[in-house]
Amino acid sequence: MEALPVFRWRLAPDGYATRRQLRARGLRPGGQDVAAQLERPRRRRGPLVAYLYRVEDAKPVRPMTPAKWAALAKANTARRTCPECGRDAGYVIPTSLGMCVTCAYPDESAA
Ligand SMILES: [Zn+2]
Repeated sequence: MEALPVFRWRLAPDGYATRRQLRARGLRPGGQDVAAQLERPRRRRGPLVAYLYRVEDAKPVRPMTPAKWAALAKANTARRTCPECGRDAGYVIPTSLGMCVTCAYPDESAA
């Protein structure tokens, strides 16, 4: 087994990311082995180590299928549709109002 490349903290090359950084981009290591490690020297203790994965081998956390996108779009549309006037308000209907602002405050929007 090859020794892992070790990089200094904050000097990681492009194309590598920690598990947390992958997660922030909606990715996961996807079964790949650790590709490299970062070390941050600390006084009196062993270095702080972070494991790096190759971004190109990472997989999406939840692959979005067309059906999932459609369900998501439908849910978003439903959340924007006013139950009072039945129109797409263009924003999520506030649960405190239970209807679009135009329906909740007809006088103010007419003025
Ligand atoms: Zn309305």
